[in-house]
Amino acid sequence: MSLAGLQAIEAAHVLPTYARQPVELVRGAGTRVWDSDGNEYLDFMAGISVLNVGHCHPRVVEAVRDQAGRLTHATNLFYTEPAMRLAKRLAESSLGGKVFFCNSGAEANEAAIKLVRKAKPGGGIVVVHGAFHGRTYGALSATPQESKQAPFAPLVPGFTVVAPEPAALEAAVGEDTAAVLVEVVQGETGVHVMPDELLAAARAACDRAGAALVFDEIQTGMGRTGTLWAYEQVGVVPDALTTAKALGGGLPIGALVTGERLADVFAPGDHGSTFAGGPLVAAAANAAFDVLEDPALLASVRELGERLREGLRGLPGTSDVRGRGLMVAFEVAQDAPGLVRRALLEQRLILNATGPTTVRLLPPLIVAAGEIDDALARVGRVLAAAPVA
Ligand SMILES: *Cc1c(COP(=O)(O)O)cnc(C)c1O
Repeated sequence: MSLAGLQAIEAAHVLPTYARQPVELVRGAGTRVWDSDGNEYLDFMAGISVLNVGHCHPRVVEAVRDQAGRLTHATNLFYTEPAMRLAKRLAESSLGGKVFFCNSGAEANEAAIKLVRKAKPGGGIVVVHGAFHGRTYGALSATPQESKQAPFAPLVPGFTVVAPEPAALEAAVGEDTAAVLVEVVQGETGVHVMPDELLAAARAACDRAGAALVFDEIQTGMGRTGTLWAYEQVGVVPDALTTAKALGGGLPIGALVTGERLADVFAPGDHGSTFAGGPLVAAAANAAFDVLEDPALLASVRELGERLREGLRGLPGTSDVRGRGLMVAFEVAQDAPGLVRRALLEQRLILNATGPTTVRLLPPLIVAAGEIDDALARVGRVLAAAPVA
């Protein structure tokens, strides 16, 4: 079917929740994807930081093929080895407690919200301006963005929004606070690194108030910032973290991981999900984990992140180049969505605009130095070409 045919079906039968690019993708390998006309693209969005291992990583493909031929689903009323193995790896690589599996980032945050509320009944949850925690009702209520929340009122009560400043956060946390929920680096709103002092203040305030500190590592986790978890670089350990996006190596899985303190809050029946932690996605996640926990890969993420930011700073037309590891954004003095469209169609480079003037780059973590330079050259050419009116 032609692209026009797909667009006609979308117009007639798909709820219009996405602004899609006019490209049909049919194949991917590593840092590359191909469209239905055979054009090859360099992918510096990685499915919004889902494909940290790259497209169709051989280890993930092999694990999925193997598991698909044996057992795809069992329900959580039985044991399966991939899920138990993944839980152990997630806990041992981070907070040492216990894991709840789910199917997406929003679901991971829903689980976290329920957990902290049960740990401190009736307690409030403090979130930070510019945060993004997902689009289901609890997660949306934790996402203080007017355009996303306003059409869907009334939201879940009990959320307080503070500026990302230590004093504001400390003032908002009190005896009736169940949790502070925060990203280590805000992703969806344009890669804003939360100051170390803010996260330290959150830790201190939570300790004082008997509240839980929860880090949303859905985008920052699984190596994106150059350590397996972003919190490892800030000297603050949360009571729980949420992960999803890259966890499944391209397949949908999310998880809530607790430390010791919150490990035994849930009892049977408190929460659940039919598909969660199924053997197929868990096998894929274990394969992705094998790739992403490699210290050499993580060192490369830190090094290439620097190379990417340095290169972007050197390009005429960029400002405020920022980020950590291979989670990077910059500002332009032109229409960013237009620039992203021209990068896609003219330079065959996949980027992502997170706002009217903000461009975000999230390459697969297996990217090579030469590909960073190639992407920089392509970005340079789009910036240099005048936008067509
Ligand atoms: C993507 C994202 C979510 C939501 O994940 P979904 O899988 O889309 O529900 C939540 N928090 C952060 C930080 C994210 O980047």
